[in-house]
Amino acid sequence: MAVSGLRLGAEKLFEMPAVLGRLSRCQSTSQAFAEVLRLPKQQLRKLLYPLQEVERYLAADRRQDLHLRIFNPSPEDIARAESVFKATEHNRIDYVSSAIRIDHAPDLPRPEVCFIGRSNVGKSSLIKALFSLAPEVEVRISKTPGHTKKMNFFKVGKHFTVVDMPGYGYRAPEDFADMVETYLKERSNLRRTFLLVDSVIGIQKTDNIAIEMCEEFALPYVIVLTKIDKSSKGHLLKQVLEIQKFVNTKTQGCFPQLFAVSAVTFSGIHLLRCFIANVTGNLDLTN
Ligand code: GDP
Repeated sequence: MAVSGLRLGAEKLFEMPAVLGRLSRCQSTSQAFAEVLRLPKQQLRKLLYPLQEVERYLAADRRQDLHLRIFNPSPEDIARAESVFKATEHNRIDYVSSAIRIDHAPDLPRPEVCFIGRSNVGKSSLIKALFSLAPEVEVRISKTPGHTKKMNFFKVGKHFTVVDMPGYGYRAPEDFADMVETYLKERSNLRRTFLLVDSVIGIQKTDNIAIEMCEEFALPYVIVLTKIDKSSKGHLLKQVLEIQKFVNTKTQGCFPQLFAVSAVTFSGIHLLRCFIANVTGNLDLTN
């Protein structure tokens, strides 16, 4: 790839995984990520650490309220995590099955992470972005009103399982409580729950149902702000400060650091991959 081809506008960055996917098979993931590392410094920072990028718009004393560097991997650590998400002959990334009840869930012994959030929060787009190094994986979604929503299980090689939980909002809390509550309570290999919040609209009443469940079952969970490309820097900072305050004062099990992603510009996707690889025991980062 010519270096000039790397000087892409931020809006083009999301195309990078597709571009990288076309690179010849013999090129390793770290080589492919090396191309990302050659982006101009500011673009790279925005892509890898989107919240640190907006942090500099805050006065120094307000920055202390934020915990943006608890998980602070180097670009090299992020590059190592990419190989976990890269589909190869020896690292098969596949849809496994769907379930409407926990006793129908596949018996997968690996560590598991799940994604929950309101309908339309951008959950399937985020999972697709996380799986962009395995473009053949079909992120199945049933959005037809009246259709039963399911938990969808995806196997990431021998590393871990990703579970796409039904979106709440429509027919919630009944559906959500029945299916999701039992899953959250009983799934013994669940390592982390990722609770998605739309960065444009912030935490909504229905999000509290999921937050209360995580708190009640003492689950470790993480708030991920979605669609950050749609928020102005000012609006994003306002939301981040509000949600950070909520996390600091009202939660026990929530990871203090917020994550922020865009499935369109790809901002924050690599960092989130790295975090997932780490919490599932596939990297040995201490923080
Ligand atoms: P789900 O119902 O939570 O699975 O949400 P989807 O992933 O289907 O997304 C809902 C809508 O938001 C769709 O129109 C997506 O194209 C849009 N969307 C999802 N993620 C992003 C994002 O990061 N940025 C923008 N601008 N739109 C997004």
